[in-house]
Amino acid sequence: MGLTGGIGSGKSLVGEYFAQLGAQVIDADDLARRAIERGSDGFDEVVAAFGDSILKNGDIDRRVLAEKIFDNEENKLILESIIHPRVRAEFALAANSLSDDEIMIYEIPLLAETGAENQFDYVITVESLIGNRFERLKVRGMARRDAEARIAVQASPEDRRAISDLIIENNGTPEELLNEVERIWTEVLPRIAGKKR
Ligand code: ADP
Repeated sequence: MGLTGGIGSGKSLVGEYFAQLGAQVIDADDLARRAIERGSDGFDEVVAAFGDSILKNGDIDRRVLAEKIFDNEENKLILESIIHPRVRAEFALAANSLSDDEIMIYEIPLLAETGAENQFDYVITVESLIGNRFERLKVRGMARRDAEARIAVQASPEDRRAISDLIIENNGTPEELLNEVERIWTEVLPRIAGKKR
C-alpha cells in the first residue's frame, strides 16, 4: 500500500501512527538515503561519478549533490541509475520478509509525480489546507520561501486525488488524525486484498 502527500501535509505522522498500530512502514526517502550512505558501494559509485567535491567530512553533502542534479538531466539520470536499483532491492527484501498477516505501507513523497501508483494496489493520500502546511513547515524551521518553492514543484491536490483510493484530510488536531488512522486501520484496510503491495 502506498502512502503519499505533499510536503507538510502530515504524511510522516500518518506513517508513524500506522506503524504504532502494527504496520510495517517503509520510507522511500530513507531507503534512498541508505542506498548511498558512507560505507556502501552506492556511496563509492556516487563519489566515482560526481567527484570528491560532493563530500563534506567524508559524507556525501546532500545539498551539493542536489545542486549537481538540479537542471542537469544527465546527472539526474546517473544518480537515479545508482539509487533506484538499490531502493527496489531493499523494497523487495522488505516485502518478501513479511508474514501473511502483516501490512506493509510504503511512504513515498513523490508518488503522483513519478507515476508509480500502478505498483500499489491501494493508495492513501494525506491532504491539508495550504495554510496549515505552511504553518507546520514553519514550526519545523522551514522558511516560507523554501516551503513555497518545494510545493510549487510538487503535484497539485487534484493530481494526487486522481491517483488516490482514499484521502485523509488532516486539518484538525493530531488526536483527530490518530482517530482517523485508527478507523482506517480497523475498518478499511482489512477489506483490501493484496495488502502487501
Ligand atoms: P510530511 O511528511 O507530509 O512533510 P509531517 O508528517 O512531517 O509532514 O508533518 C509536518 C509537521 O507538522 C510535523 O512536525 C508534524 O508533527 C506536524 N503535524 C502534522 N499533522 C499535524 C496536525 N494535525 N496538527 C499539528 N501538527 C501536525
